[in-house]
Amino acid sequence: MKIKDILATTRPVSFEFFPPRAADGIPAVLETLDELKVFCPDYVSVTYGAGGSTRAFTEEITFEAKRKAGVEVMAHLTCVGQTKEEIHGVLERLNAEGVENIIALRGDPPRGAMEFVPVEGGFQHATDLLEHVKANFDFGVAAACYPEGHTESVDLVTDMKFVKQKVDNGADFLITQLFYDNRHYFDFVERARAAGIEVPIIPGVLPVLNSGQVRRFTALSGSEIPPELDKLLDKYADNESGARDMGVEYASAQVRELWDAGVPGVHFYVLNRSYSVSRILDNLTIPGHHRLD
Ligand SMILES: Cc1cc2nc3c(=O)[nH]c(=O)nc-3n(C[C@H](O)[C@H](O)[C@H](O)COP(=O)(O)OP(=O)(O)OC[C@H]3O[C@@H](n4cnc5c(N)ncnc54)[C@H](O)[C@@H]3O)c2cc1C
Repeated sequence: MKIKDILATTRPVSFEFFPPRAADGIPAVLETLDELKVFCPDYVSVTYGAGGSTRAFTEEITFEAKRKAGVEVMAHLTCVGQTKEEIHGVLERLNAEGVENIIALRGDPPRGAMEFVPVEGGFQHATDLLEHVKANFDFGVAAACYPEGHTESVDLVTDMKFVKQKVDNGADFLITQLFYDNRHYFDFVERARAAGIEVPIIPGVLPVLNSGQVRRFTALSGSEIPPELDKLLDKYADNESGARDMGVEYASAQVRELWDAGVPGVHFYVLNRSYSVSRILDNLTIPGHHRLD
Protein backbone atom coordinates (compact mmCIF):
# COMPACT_ATOMS: atom_id res chain seq x y z
CA MET A 1 0.00 0.00 0.00
CA LYS A 2 1.20 3.49 -0.73
CA ILE A 3 1.90 5.56 2.38
CA LYS A 4 -0.10 8.45 0.93
CA ASP A 5 -3.14 6.14 1.12
CA ILE A 6 -2.27 5.23 4.72
CA LEU A 7 -2.04 8.95 5.48
CA ALA A 8 -5.51 9.44 4.05
CA THR A 9 -7.03 7.20 6.72
CA THR A 10 -4.75 7.34 9.77
CA ARG A 11 -1.82 9.10 11.47
CA PRO A 12 0.99 6.61 10.85
CA VAL A 13 3.58 5.62 13.42
CA SER A 14 6.71 4.43 11.63
CA PHE A 15 10.16 3.14 12.51
CA GLU A 16 13.44 3.77 10.71
CA PHE A 17 16.24 1.21 10.69
CA PHE A 18 19.69 1.28 9.17
CA PRO A 19 21.54 -1.56 7.42
CA PRO A 20 24.34 -3.27 9.34
CA ARG A 21 27.97 -3.14 8.17
CA ALA A 22 28.18 -6.88 7.57
CA ALA A 23 25.65 -9.46 6.45
CA ASP A 24 25.79 -11.27 9.80
CA GLY A 25 24.19 -8.18 11.39
CA ILE A 26 20.97 -8.56 9.37
CA PRO A 27 19.23 -11.03 11.73
CA ALA A 28 19.65 -8.59 14.66
CA VAL A 29 17.95 -5.80 12.68
CA LEU A 30 15.07 -8.13 11.77
CA GLU A 31 14.82 -9.22 15.41
CA THR A 32 14.45 -5.58 16.53
CA LEU A 33 11.82 -5.10 13.86
CA ASP A 34 10.03 -8.17 15.18
CA GLU A 35 10.14 -6.81 18.75
CA LEU A 36 8.66 -3.51 17.60
CA LYS A 37 5.92 -5.18 15.59
CA VAL A 38 3.85 -5.45 18.78
CA PHE A 39 3.26 -1.70 18.39
CA CYS A 40 1.69 -2.19 14.94
CA PRO A 41 3.82 0.24 12.92
CA ASP A 42 2.05 1.51 9.81
CA TYR A 43 5.30 1.16 7.91
CA VAL A 44 9.03 0.81 8.50
CA SER A 45 11.90 2.28 6.50
CA VAL A 46 15.50 1.27 5.92
CA THR A 47 18.18 3.87 5.27
CA TYR A 48 20.56 3.77 2.31
CA GLY A 49 24.29 3.68 3.06
CA ALA A 50 27.02 5.86 1.62
CA GLY A 51 28.20 3.04 -0.61
CA GLY A 52 29.44 -0.53 -0.67
CA SER A 53 27.70 -3.66 0.48
CA THR A 54 25.34 -2.04 2.99
CA ARG A 55 23.22 -0.92 0.04
CA ALA A 56 22.43 -4.53 -0.78
CA PHE A 57 21.52 -5.02 2.89
CA THR A 58 19.05 -2.13 2.64
CA GLU A 59 17.31 -3.98 -0.16
CA GLU A 60 17.48 -7.30 1.68
CA ILE A 61 16.01 -5.92 4.93
CA THR A 62 13.34 -4.02 3.00
CA PHE A 63 12.28 -7.18 1.15
CA GLU A 64 12.35 -9.31 4.33
CA ALA A 65 10.27 -6.76 6.25
CA LYS A 66 7.70 -6.68 3.48
CA ARG A 67 7.57 -10.40 2.72
CA LYS A 68 8.23 -12.15 6.00
CA ALA A 69 7.32 -9.60 8.66
CA GLY A 70 4.35 -8.45 6.58
CA VAL A 71 4.93 -4.78 7.41
CA GLU A 72 4.54 -2.00 4.84
CA VAL A 73 7.94 -0.64 3.85
CA MET A 74 9.61 2.46 2.48
CA ALA A 75 13.09 2.09 0.96
CA HIS A 76 15.50 5.02 1.25
CA LEU A 77 17.43 5.84 -1.91
CA THR A 78 20.17 8.44 -2.45
CA CYS A 79 22.00 9.89 -5.45
CA VAL A 80 25.45 9.27 -3.93
CA GLY A 81 28.03 7.53 -6.11
CA GLN A 82 25.64 6.15 -8.72
CA THR A 83 24.76 7.01 -12.30
CA LYS A 84 21.15 7.48 -13.34
CA GLU A 85 21.24 4.03 -14.93
CA GLU A 86 22.45 2.43 -11.70
CA ILE A 87 19.77 4.20 -9.68
CA HIS A 88 17.21 3.15 -12.27
CA GLY A 89 18.38 -0.44 -11.72
CA VAL A 90 17.78 -0.15 -7.95
CA LEU A 91 14.30 1.23 -8.58
CA GLU A 92 13.55 -1.64 -10.96
CA ARG A 93 14.62 -4.21 -8.34
CA LEU A 94 12.49 -2.54 -5.66
CA ASN A 95 9.55 -2.45 -8.04
CA ALA A 96 10.00 -6.10 -9.03
CA GLU A 97 9.94 -7.11 -5.35
CA GLY A 98 6.66 -5.29 -4.79
CA VAL A 99 8.06 -2.36 -2.78
CA GLU A 100 5.57 0.48 -3.22
CA ASN A 101 7.24 3.34 -1.35
CA ILE A 102 10.57 5.11 -1.47
CA ILE A 103 12.03 8.24 0.09
CA ALA A 104 14.08 10.08 -2.53
CA LEU A 105 17.20 11.73 -1.11
CA ARG A 106 20.36 13.33 -2.37
CA GLY A 107 22.59 11.90 0.38
CA ASP A 108 25.53 13.54 2.14
CA PRO A 109 28.92 14.33 0.63
CA PRO A 110 31.50 11.66 1.52
CA ARG A 111 33.24 12.19 4.89
CA GLY A 112 35.83 14.94 4.59
CA ALA A 113 34.34 16.40 1.38
CA MET A 114 32.98 19.94 1.58
CA GLU A 115 30.30 19.58 -1.05
CA PHE A 116 28.23 16.98 -2.82
CA VAL A 117 29.46 16.19 -6.31
CA PRO A 118 27.42 13.71 -8.35
CA VAL A 119 29.20 11.02 -10.32
CA GLU A 120 29.29 11.73 -14.03
CA GLY A 121 25.79 11.06 -15.28
CA GLY A 122 24.35 11.12 -11.77
CA PHE A 123 21.61 13.18 -10.14
CA GLN A 124 22.55 16.46 -8.45
CA HIS A 125 19.57 16.82 -6.14
CA ALA A 126 16.66 14.95 -4.62
CA THR A 127 14.44 17.02 -6.92
CA ASP A 128 16.13 15.38 -9.96
CA LEU A 129 15.71 11.89 -8.49
CA LEU A 130 12.06 12.64 -7.76
CA GLU A 131 11.52 13.74 -11.35
CA HIS A 132 13.07 10.50 -12.62
CA VAL A 133 11.03 8.33 -10.26
CA LYS A 134 7.74 10.00 -11.16
CA ALA A 135 8.47 9.81 -14.91
CA ASN A 136 9.35 6.12 -14.87
CA PHE A 137 7.68 4.36 -11.93
CA ASP A 138 4.52 4.28 -9.87
CA PHE A 139 6.04 4.43 -6.36
CA GLY A 140 4.58 6.40 -3.50
CA VAL A 141 7.33 8.92 -2.79
CA ALA A 142 8.49 10.88 0.25
CA ALA A 143 11.24 13.49 0.59
CA ALA A 144 13.28 14.97 3.44
CA CYS A 145 12.90 18.42 4.98
CA TYR A 146 14.77 20.37 7.63
CA PRO A 147 12.84 22.44 10.18
CA GLU A 148 16.00 24.37 11.11
CA GLY A 149 17.20 24.56 7.50
CA HIS A 150 19.55 22.20 5.67
CA THR A 151 23.17 22.76 6.67
CA GLU A 152 24.16 23.77 3.12
CA SER A 153 21.27 26.11 2.45
CA VAL A 154 21.98 29.81 2.21
CA ASP A 155 18.85 30.76 4.14
CA LEU A 156 15.50 29.35 5.24
CA VAL A 157 13.56 30.99 2.39
CA THR A 158 15.80 29.43 -0.28
CA ASP A 159 15.67 26.08 1.50
CA MET A 160 11.86 26.22 1.51
CA LYS A 161 11.85 26.99 -2.21
CA PHE A 162 13.55 23.65 -2.82
CA VAL A 163 11.23 21.80 -0.43
CA LYS A 164 8.37 23.17 -2.53
CA GLN A 165 10.13 21.94 -5.65
CA LYS A 166 10.36 18.45 -4.13
CA VAL A 167 6.59 18.47 -3.62
CA ASP A 168 5.99 19.90 -7.11
CA ASN A 169 8.20 17.09 -8.47
CA GLY A 170 5.99 14.47 -6.84
CA ALA A 171 6.74 14.02 -3.12
CA ASP A 172 3.49 12.82 -1.50
CA PHE A 173 4.68 13.76 1.97
CA LEU A 174 7.75 15.00 3.85
CA ILE A 175 9.65 13.61 6.83
CA THR A 176 11.68 16.00 8.93
CA GLN A 177 15.22 15.89 10.14
CA LEU A 178 15.50 15.31 13.92
CA PHE A 179 14.84 18.28 16.21
CA TYR A 180 14.66 18.63 19.98
CA ASP A 181 12.59 21.80 20.22
CA ASN A 182 9.07 21.37 18.86
CA ARG A 183 8.91 25.09 18.14
CA HIS A 184 11.18 24.48 15.13
CA TYR A 185 8.70 21.93 13.73
CA PHE A 186 5.65 24.14 14.29
CA ASP A 187 7.40 27.17 12.74
CA PHE A 188 8.52 25.09 9.77
CA VAL A 189 5.00 23.80 9.10
CA GLU A 190 3.65 27.34 9.26
CA ARG A 191 6.30 28.58 6.81
CA ALA A 192 5.71 25.58 4.53
CA ARG A 193 1.96 26.23 4.39
CA ALA A 194 2.62 29.91 3.64
CA ALA A 195 4.92 28.77 0.79
CA GLY A 196 2.06 26.72 -0.70
CA ILE A 197 3.20 23.28 0.51
CA GLU A 198 0.10 21.30 1.37
CA VAL A 199 1.37 17.72 1.82
CA PRO A 200 1.64 16.05 5.27
CA ILE A 201 4.85 16.92 7.13
CA ILE A 202 5.75 14.08 9.48
CA PRO A 203 8.08 14.88 12.38
CA GLY A 204 11.14 12.63 12.69
CA VAL A 205 12.01 11.95 16.33
CA LEU A 206 15.32 10.63 17.63
CA PRO A 207 15.18 9.61 21.30
CA VAL A 208 18.44 10.33 23.13
CA LEU A 209 20.35 7.06 23.54
CA ASN A 210 23.54 8.59 24.84
CA SER A 211 24.80 12.13 25.33
CA GLY A 212 27.84 12.00 23.04
CA GLN A 213 25.83 10.57 20.17
CA VAL A 214 23.22 13.33 20.35
CA ARG A 215 25.92 15.98 20.45
CA ARG A 216 27.53 14.44 17.35
CA PHE A 217 24.24 14.05 15.44
CA THR A 218 23.05 17.58 16.21
CA ALA A 219 26.45 19.02 15.25
CA LEU A 220 26.14 17.26 11.88
CA SER A 221 22.51 18.18 11.25
CA GLY A 222 22.73 21.72 12.64
CA SER A 223 19.85 21.02 15.04
CA GLU A 224 19.65 23.08 18.21
CA ILE A 225 19.99 21.47 21.62
CA PRO A 226 17.60 23.43 23.87
CA PRO A 227 19.15 24.61 27.18
CA GLU A 228 17.16 22.18 29.36
CA LEU A 229 18.26 19.22 27.21
CA ASP A 230 21.81 20.55 27.15
CA LYS A 231 21.94 20.39 30.96
CA LEU A 232 20.52 16.86 30.96
CA LEU A 233 23.07 15.71 28.36
CA ASP A 234 25.84 17.04 30.61
CA LYS A 235 24.31 15.38 33.66
CA TYR A 236 24.21 11.98 31.96
CA ALA A 237 27.41 12.37 29.92
CA ASP A 238 29.01 9.35 31.63
CA ASN A 239 25.86 7.43 32.44
CA GLU A 240 24.49 5.66 29.38
CA SER A 241 21.49 4.01 31.03
CA GLY A 242 20.60 7.31 32.75
CA ALA A 243 20.86 9.12 29.41
CA ARG A 244 18.65 6.52 27.76
CA ASP A 245 15.96 6.81 30.45
CA MET A 246 16.13 10.60 30.29
CA GLY A 247 15.82 10.28 26.50
CA VAL A 248 12.65 8.20 26.89
CA GLU A 249 11.06 10.86 29.09
CA TYR A 250 12.20 13.74 26.87
CA ALA A 251 10.97 12.10 23.65
CA SER A 252 7.69 11.02 25.30
CA ALA A 253 6.97 14.65 26.24
CA GLN A 254 8.06 15.83 22.80
CA VAL A 255 5.86 13.36 20.92
CA ARG A 256 2.91 13.89 23.27
CA GLU A 257 2.94 17.60 22.48
CA LEU A 258 3.31 16.94 18.74
CA TRP A 259 0.57 14.32 18.71
CA ASP A 260 -1.84 16.48 20.70
CA ALA A 261 -1.17 19.33 18.25
CA GLY A 262 -2.43 17.06 15.45
CA VAL A 263 0.71 16.04 13.56
CA PRO A 264 -0.08 13.75 10.60
CA GLY A 265 2.08 10.91 12.00
CA VAL A 266 5.37 10.28 13.79
CA HIS A 267 8.53 8.73 12.35
CA PHE A 268 10.92 7.32 14.96
CA TYR A 269 14.63 7.12 14.25
CA VAL A 270 14.96 3.79 16.03
CA LEU A 271 18.69 3.27 15.44
CA ASN A 272 18.06 -0.49 15.45
CA ARG A 273 17.21 -0.52 19.18
CA SER A 274 13.77 -1.41 20.46
CA TYR A 275 14.07 -0.38 24.13
CA SER A 276 13.53 3.40 23.97
CA VAL A 277 10.81 3.47 21.33
CA SER A 278 8.95 0.65 23.14
CA ARG A 279 8.97 2.62 26.38
CA ILE A 280 7.95 5.83 24.62
CA LEU A 281 4.97 4.12 22.99
CA ASP A 282 4.06 2.51 26.33
CA ASN A 283 4.08 6.02 27.84
CA LEU A 284 2.05 7.57 25.06
CA THR A 285 -0.81 5.10 24.49
CA ILE A 286 -1.47 6.26 20.92
CA PRO A 287 -4.68 4.59 19.66
CA GLY A 288 -3.83 1.56 17.51
CA HIS A 289 -0.24 1.54 18.71
CA HIS A 290 -0.55 -0.04 22.15
CA ARG A 291 1.66 -3.00 22.89
CA LEU A 292 -0.09 -6.16 21.67
CA ASP A 293 0.33 -8.87 24.32
C1 LIG B 1 13.95 11.66 6.77
C2 LIG B 1 15.38 11.60 6.31
C3 LIG B 1 15.91 10.41 5.84
C4 LIG B 1 17.24 10.34 5.40
N1 LIG B 1 17.73 9.13 4.95
C5 LIG B 1 19.00 9.06 4.49
C6 LIG B 1 19.52 7.83 3.97
O1 LIG B 1 18.85 6.81 3.96
N2 LIG B 1 20.80 7.82 3.51
C7 LIG B 1 21.58 8.95 3.51
O2 LIG B 1 22.74 8.88 3.07
N3 LIG B 1 21.12 10.12 3.99
C8 LIG B 1 19.84 10.21 4.47
N4 LIG B 1 19.36 11.40 4.94
C9 LIG B 1 20.26 12.57 4.98
C10 LIG B 1 20.23 13.36 3.64
O3 LIG B 1 20.72 12.57 2.60
C11 LIG B 1 21.10 14.60 3.84
O4 LIG B 1 20.48 15.48 4.74
C12 LIG B 1 21.53 15.33 2.55
O5 LIG B 1 22.54 16.26 2.92
C13 LIG B 1 20.42 16.10 1.86
O6 LIG B 1 19.51 15.27 1.28
P1 LIG B 1 18.19 15.86 0.58
O7 LIG B 1 17.47 14.76 -0.05
O8 LIG B 1 17.45 16.75 1.49
O9 LIG B 1 18.93 16.77 -0.56
P2 LIG B 1 18.46 17.96 -1.46
O10 LIG B 1 16.98 18.10 -1.46
O11 LIG B 1 19.11 17.79 -2.76
O12 LIG B 1 19.03 19.24 -0.68
C14 LIG B 1 20.42 19.41 -0.46
C15 LIG B 1 20.76 20.91 -0.44
O13 LIG B 1 20.56 21.45 -1.74
C16 LIG B 1 19.52 22.43 -1.76
N5 LIG B 1 18.69 22.09 -2.92
C17 LIG B 1 17.69 21.17 -3.00
N6 LIG B 1 17.19 21.08 -4.25
C18 LIG B 1 17.91 21.96 -4.99
C19 LIG B 1 17.88 22.31 -6.37
N7 LIG B 1 17.01 21.74 -7.22
N8 LIG B 1 18.79 23.23 -6.80
C20 LIG B 1 19.68 23.81 -5.96
N9 LIG B 1 19.74 23.53 -4.64
C21 LIG B 1 18.87 22.60 -4.16
C22 LIG B 1 18.78 22.30 -0.45
O14 LIG B 1 18.27 23.55 0.02
C23 LIG B 1 19.85 21.74 0.47
O15 LIG B 1 20.64 22.76 1.02
C24 LIG B 1 18.05 11.50 5.42
C25 LIG B 1 17.52 12.70 5.91
C26 LIG B 1 16.21 12.76 6.35
C27 LIG B 1 15.67 14.06 6.90
